[in-house]
Amino acid sequence: MIFSTVEQPDIVTLKGVLPASLEVFGCSGSVGDPGNGTSCFLLNQDVLIDAGSGVMAMNTAQMSKINHVLLTHTHLDHVSGLPFLVESRQHSQASPLYVYAQQKTIDVLRQHVFNDLIWPDFTAIPSTESPALKFVTIQPHVELMLGGAILIPFAVNHSVPTLGFVIKSSSGVLAISSDTYLTDELSQVLNSMVQVDHLIIESSFSNKDKKLSELTLHLCPSLLATQLNKLDTCRNVWVSYLKEWDRIQTEREIEDLEFNFPLKLLRQGQTIRF
Ligand SMILES: [Zn+2]
Repeated sequence: MIFSTVEQPDIVTLKGVLPASLEVFGCSGSVGDPGNGTSCFLLNQDVLIDAGSGVMAMNTAQMSKINHVLLTHTHLDHVSGLPFLVESRQHSQASPLYVYAQQKTIDVLRQHVFNDLIWPDFTAIPSTESPALKFVTIQPHVELMLGGAILIPFAVNHSVPTLGFVIKSSSGVLAISSDTYLTDELSQVLNSMVQVDHLIIESSFSNKDKKLSELTLHLCPSLLATQLNKLDTCRNVWVSYLKEWDRIQTEREIEDLEFNFPLKLLRQGQTIRF
């Protein structure tokens, strides 16, 4: 199914599915390392998944090429770069920046960010007829085709409505969990696939903060192990969103986990091709 429930933006080109690259512009769970921003992944140069502080690692030329942004949820570490991206891009692109998210996410951004108080309402700038920003509502399990890839949103278990994404290219499958606590949805979606080449999954806290993980609906290494044990298989698991103030301990605990598939730490600056 191709994104049939909402209006297709004009800019969407239903070209064939292509090989994909995912550039990591941010995969930290906090600030504290100037070389590692928060959630921001660039797919095939024109699709951004999340717009956290990793946007600050982009130059204007890179930002000008982005036509689509998919947001997992409203938390600042996933959206803080969006206002600056919209502002910068409008000076090099006449077409709007399309921002795809669940309706509740869009409502929060309209009310609390693009409200002419915190930041201008770019859905009406430079005009309502030709704005710099257009929101598009998406729903779990309704596919989109953007940037030569098929993207399938799915719900995860976090403190606000949150989506993960499966991305299918012509040669592989990559999934991003975004922020999540234990969830059956993630394993059900991935176990239904013939092959999953890459999974980017979070471990925000170390095990000493397991209660904080449960309170805020995140994972720590012991909870990550429980979640990964639900997976049939995955060729590469990349762990992300570590909090910088406890990175060393969290990395140690992740390195101690043993699975049948490779478990690696994701870094800003990496490019995953699939
Ligand atoms: Zn969050």
